[in-house]
Amino acid sequence: MALPLDKMLDTLSARIIAAADELTDLDSAIGDADHGLNMKRGFEAVQAERASILAKPSGEALKAVGMMLVMKVGGASGPLYGTLFMTLGKELPDQPTLADMGRALNASVTALKARGKAEIGNKTMLDVLAPVAAHLESGTATFDSVRTLAAESAKATIPMKAIRGRASFLGERSIGHMDPGARSSEIMIAAVCDVLEGTS
Ligand code: ADP
Ligand code: MG
Repeated sequence: MALPLDKMLDTLSARIIAAADELTDLDSAIGDADHGLNMKRGFEAVQAERASILAKPSGEALKAVGMMLVMKVGGASGPLYGTLFMTLGKELPDQPTLADMGRALNASVTALKARGKAEIGNKTMLDVLAPVAAHLESGTATFDSVRTLAAESAKATIPMKAIRGRASFLGERSIGHMDPGARSSEIMIAAVCDVLEGTS
């Protein structure tokens, strides 16, 4: 399908900006209370450059979003989400199927793991991105099943003990809270599903 990149960027930005307080609250429990602010700053910058980003072919546009996030989000999540979008820009064909999206997301997960030295189960954004990538790649995914899996995967970080990122400084005390990056990944995945399904 042809990607409606304009709608995808706008919906992603709007949802992340609207969730800034929620994400910052999650980060105040097990981090330094800035994840929502960081992400909001990044997507506001993306919106400010919207026209020049959308003037590019889709692969280049996604890479430009990634570079903007690296520059503007900061923290641990900026370089990681930046890597995610830059890898998607490199890997996604012009008219991807859901399985193509899974392959590209899997390539991003591999790049994220290398960059952040994290594994599945460490209580990070990977705990949402990796299962969703695998599910998409399986060829059995529907928009509903992807949204549900993303939400369940974010919830499944609550009982995990953080092994990577700032939350790992808390050790056992990181247990019992949802990982902020897992929640922001869930929000982004749901936004993309909604746009592609045409319900946004
Ligand atoms: P910081 O932790 O530097 O304040 P943010 O608050 O913006 O940065 O982002 C925190 C989120 O980044 C975490 O909730 C987690 O999902 C993700 N994260 C942190 N470190 C890693 C890592 N090494 N690998 C994958 N994700 C990570
Ligand atoms: Mg933080």
